[in-house]
Amino acid sequence: MSSKNCIFCNIISGDMKSATVFENSEFKVIMDRFPASKGHTLIMPKEHVENIFDIETDVASRLFALATQISKILKQTLNCEGMNVLQNNGSIAGQTVDHFHLHLMPRYKDDKINI
Ligand code: 5GP
Ligand code: ZN
Repeated sequence: MSSKNCIFCNIISGDMKSATVFENSEFKVIMDRFPASKGHTLIMPKEHVENIFDIETDVASRLFALATQISKILKQTLNCEGMNVLQNNGSIAGQTVDHFHLHLMPRYKDDKINI
């Protein structure tokens, strides 16, 4: 079920613009609008689920498999030295968009990013 009030559902439906890196029938991969580092990417299921407490485990494992592939492509194309993989659940944990998403944050020498 998609939610009209959900930013990511609106991106997935095409009602809101995003820089899309990849998509298939199940997932969408977009560039973060406010990147913490060059190449900051978000991976989300197309079906609206709020967070880790709601997502089906098989969907989560396919999403993580996709994350490993995207990470490798980011490393090759951006020549980053490392990668933070982050996933927030609940406002107390820093989740600001209530549609499950996994962050890929490429890391570079001397980037001074505080995660
Ligand atoms: P969270 O804090 O929920 O883990 O992460 C939400 C992420 O979504 C943040 O990194 C934020 O910059 C990003 N974000 C918020 N609004 C938009 C938007 O309209 N488009 C895109 N591409 N990213 C967004
Ligand atoms: Zn949503």
